[in-house]
Amino acid sequence: MTEQTDQIRPALPTPKPWISQIHAYVPGKSKGHDGRPLTKLSANENPLGTSPAALAARAEAAAPALYPDPDSNALRAALGQLHGIPAARIVMGTGSDEILHIAAQAYAGPGDEIIYVRYGFSVYDIAARRCGATPVVAPDADYGTDVDALLALVNEKTRVVFVANPNNPTGSFLPRGEIARLHAALPSDVLLVLDQAYGEYVSPEDEDGAMALAQSAGNVLVTRTFSKIYGLAGERLGWGTGAPHIIDALNRIRGPFNLSNSAQAMGLAAVADQSFVEASRLHNLATRQAFVAELEQLSNHGIRPLPSEANFVLILFEGNLTAETVYNGLMEIGYITRWLPNQGLPHGLRITIGSKAQMDEIAAEIRRLAQAAG
Ligand SMILES: *Cc1c(COP(=O)(O)O)cnc(C)c1O
Repeated sequence: MTEQTDQIRPALPTPKPWISQIHAYVPGKSKGHDGRPLTKLSANENPLGTSPAALAARAEAAAPALYPDPDSNALRAALGQLHGIPAARIVMGTGSDEILHIAAQAYAGPGDEIIYVRYGFSVYDIAARRCGATPVVAPDADYGTDVDALLALVNEKTRVVFVANPNNPTGSFLPRGEIARLHAALPSDVLLVLDQAYGEYVSPEDEDGAMALAQSAGNVLVTRTFSKIYGLAGERLGWGTGAPHIIDALNRIRGPFNLSNSAQAMGLAAVADQSFVEASRLHNLATRQAFVAELEQLSNHGIRPLPSEANFVLILFEGNLTAETVYNGLMEIGYITRWLPNQGLPHGLRITIGSKAQMDEIAAEIRRLAQAAG
């Protein structure tokens, strides 16, 4: 080796520049400043827990010494049956996070662009940067997804568009017609990823048509998760569905044994227990509506809950009372919520819908703080 090449070699392994630019994902916290455990309403987990049938299935999972079924065949068959789609059009992921990452990686790289909305899910930024693609952020329409703003950014470098519907952290929802309009105007070689992590919370009559689009179009991937309504966040189960050529590409790069034995067993039992899913949906709907109604009475204090179709509400504090004060005040009474200064929302607090008693207590505390702030 010449002296010259010796000099230009770095002293240590050096991450690719696009990796160094990533801000690591910040998970919802479960402890207060002083380390005291708090009721966690910061990660959109199910307050009803997990289906008892799924909990029972944990004990019956294949032995931990054995590798799991690499293709999660039983679980894909059950999901296919539930949603009326062929199992061959389903790819499983270690959480839907894995599906989002491999979708970006399969279709984009350095020099390519990936579009998503401001006030969107922070994993999209990581997924785009991780494969060296350039993230392109579309402006919102009063915190909601703006289809025209997304479309205005599409160019010959665009490879992937991520849209969460309902969106996190805003809770906003695009109706079926807007999803169809977005898809119709996108070039057919751009992958449209419709992230339905909160899809089960949407009332059936408001369904956005994404699932049907993933079955009929050649450039749509719908992602789903067991982390939210199914109450299985800790088991890391997600999935995607789309055209066979998309599923084939994702299967080439996903982890070969990506779903553990217990995840597959619990997922299978959870899919079979749709009564738990329905009870969770109805509990969330009623509790969220009552909570929002309470907050709407505080509009004269500059408190504005954004309309939500999900299992959380983003509350904007646009008056004397700040989101930070409420975040700290709720911590004082035992709740950890999600204050979002790092996502461009220093005036926003996202609160997961917990039990009715919890939400009543939180609404009362916000009212008290608002009155104190004048
Ligand atoms: C919670 C969430 C997910 C789910 O992630 P998992 O990896 O399946 O736990 C995906 N997308 C959005 C928008 C979310 O809020």
